[in-house]
Amino acid sequence: MHTPQINIVVPLYNEGKVFDMLIDRLDQLMQTSPLSIEVILIDDGSRDETPDLMRKLSLANPRYQSVFLSRNFGHQLALTAGLTYVNASEAVLIVDGDLQDPPELLADFYEQYKKGYDVVYAVRKKRKENFIKRAAYASFYRFLKRVSYVEIPLDSGDFSLVSRAVIDHLNAMPEESRFIRGMRSWIGYKQIGVEYERSERQAGESKYSLKKLLELAFNGIFNFSEYPIQLITRLGLFIMSLSGIYLLTVLFKRLVYNSTPEGFTAILATIIAFGGIQLFAIGLIGEYVLRIFFQVKKRPLFIVKNSIERGEVRVPVVRDKDRFAEEADRAD
Ligand code: UDP
Ligand code: MG
Repeated sequence: MHTPQINIVVPLYNEGKVFDMLIDRLDQLMQTSPLSIEVILIDDGSRDETPDLMRKLSLANPRYQSVFLSRNFGHQLALTAGLTYVNASEAVLIVDGDLQDPPELLADFYEQYKKGYDVVYAVRKKRKENFIKRAAYASFYRFLKRVSYVEIPLDSGDFSLVSRAVIDHLNAMPEESRFIRGMRSWIGYKQIGVEYERSERQAGESKYSLKKLLELAFNGIFNFSEYPIQLITRLGLFIMSLSGIYLLTVLFKRLVYNSTPEGFTAILATIIAFGGIQLFAIGLIGEYVLRIFFQVKKRPLFIVKNSIERGEVRVPVVRDKDRFAEEADRAD
């Protein structure tokens, strides 16, 4: 069977409006590029015509594989699903379906890959989005850099060319709440950034709701940091010493000047402030605990309804081999 050098993996959620443009660009790229390329499209539970368009395309053109998820799992998990279908011998290009990431950059990325870089990630030089969104992104990446124990490059998303070896490592990571750009950094190997200007979405609206964006940001922070927890401990120690000092001063005043304590408003304010700090701290710990909770369930990360590979429809077999093995053990 023919193995392509490069896979292009594209997650799609209600992208009916850009679909034709996307396929035009990818077709052109495949025709002009000296590399042998196959595309893996993932339908992340779209409710528009995206799945139909994908089906037609994949049945007619074997260079496009399609993977259909059972519902909307979110961009990161859709991408994760797509990466398990990779069959390229060399590397995988990860792009968004809305053409904000020009797939033509593959040539530049590949040049770096040939120089021995396993991960070539795109760094956004300019964003053509509104000011508030740009400011939020910029401060998030800077904050993440401060709290994270992994060196996650500033202003880089999932758009990247990643060697097959690194993809295999990614696929072997069972992490539930996935922040792929962080996991990619964590894996290591030789990595390099290439600057580019991020274009505007070519059609349709952003499929990242504020809720989904926040979820992604939280996954970035709480999956790659221990600093917030350490901060609570330090804050606790600091406040304890403050109250110690205060107590000593009051005692001293009482003994030396025989003065009586005053300031009920101050007491009330302090109680409220500390109530707030404590709730915040519990919530923060809760974020880590939640991630443990979801992880220990060991659910599959996504469910593939079916796929079309080289023009053939396939329905995955649900494997619960491990579960049966466990039950057999218990029966013994
Ligand atoms: N996407 C997805 N599932 C989702 C949300 C988004 O597969 O639940 C895809 C979407 O179709 C696109 C990519 O992820 O190909 C990036 O999404 P989008 O362009 O809407 O995000 P933005 O660029 O606005 O941050
Ligand atoms: Mg986009």
